[in-house]
Amino acid sequence: MAGISQHTSREELRELQSKRLRDTVEHAHENVPFYRERLDEAGVSPADIDGVDDIETVPFTTKADFRDEYPDGLFAVGDDDVLRIHASSGTTGKPKIVAYTEDDLDLWNAVMARSMDAAGIGPADTVQNAYGYGLFTGGLGFHGGAEELGATVVPTSSGNTQRQVELARDLESDAIACTPSYALYFAETADEMGVDPRDLSISTVLYGAEPCTEPMREEIEDRLDATGIENYGLSELIGPGVAAECREAQDGMHIWEDHFYPEVIDPQTGEALPEGEEGELVLTSLTKEAVPVLRYRTGDLTTLTSDECECGRTMVRMDSVTGRADDLLIVRGVNLYPSQIEDVVLEFDPIAPQYRIDLYREGTLDRLELTIELVDGFDGETAALREAVLDRLENTLSFRPDALDLVEYGTIERTEVGKVKRVYDHR
Ligand SMILES: [Zn+2]
Repeated sequence: MAGISQHTSREELRELQSKRLRDTVEHAHENVPFYRERLDEAGVSPADIDGVDDIETVPFTTKADFRDEYPDGLFAVGDDDVLRIHASSGTTGKPKIVAYTEDDLDLWNAVMARSMDAAGIGPADTVQNAYGYGLFTGGLGFHGGAEELGATVVPTSSGNTQRQVELARDLESDAIACTPSYALYFAETADEMGVDPRDLSISTVLYGAEPCTEPMREEIEDRLDATGIENYGLSELIGPGVAAECREAQDGMHIWEDHFYPEVIDPQTGEALPEGEEGELVLTSLTKEAVPVLRYRTGDLTTLTSDECECGRTMVRMDSVTGRADDLLIVRGVNLYPSQIEDVVLEFDPIAPQYRIDLYREGTLDRLELTIELVDGFDGETAALREAVLDRLENTLSFRPDALDLVEYGTIERTEVGKVKRVYDHR
């Protein structure tokens, strides 16, 4: 697993990517009947792939392919070489199963260690890992990376939050790895226990696995008096460790391009989009053995930039994912992402970062009801606030929500384990 400097020139990187792409296409064609059929149907032979310029001739792989090939149709190695299995649960249907060889696990640890290093974590740090351990890749992904880096890892997994607060205080954890919604829940729980979360020694929050708007990040940073660093990944590619922000810039996540080749496409036409335009992220694994992945449509909408980063790393950066194609809501013919609502409501100081969206259908008309929490101890006038929030939402969404309920702090149910649920579609 030859490493590469994160400051290598883009030309050199491209050469390495081209070589690795050729190897990956050949490996997939030779060892995975699914890919052989797809490539043959498209009239693409591995010998036709000179480099990354030819990647557009390779057919896409989709979430549906992972489900159709359940459980092991995408494996490129035999059971002898598989050391571990993970799975990502879908909301519907079968889970997507992925496997790792010994080299794959080494790679995963290496890219996770690199991500945490970019976040400013070092061997002297204690990382409290509150991602769920198990089939979900979050827990073991961060765990392996922290150990690889030589940091101390406290494998708390998710849940049991009072004990997490006690451990963070008593072990003087320097970082916590968790979802953004859990970071807030953790801070609230500390408050309730009479522990000021700002007094804890946590100085870094390694968050990911859920979309997180900039106002939400600011809220997390403020509540914990820490730096919030976003991480990106998905089980189909490896888990977390595909991309991570650097602490220096906190301005987009560097994709570890020596192992994952990114493209952005128009989600409707599948055409490649030029750098800087928003579209669907497509990723190709360049070094994975057990489950090589060719041009995987992530469903995540983002923008890429190769502009120089202040940290000096040359690898391309992706924007925070504004929405997953899966999260897209169509309400009265308007496309909207929950993050658009989050962005608007968190601009208002009296509003806490907890909300839920309920969708109903009355006759032929969609109805959107929003419930938002007020900050702790709010005793101001709500009527004017409600109008102001509704006006701003109407401006952004181009329709006015049918109901806006401003509720007391602590009313909306918190998510202690797993990913937060904010949208309830009753239609
Ligand atoms: Zn950077």
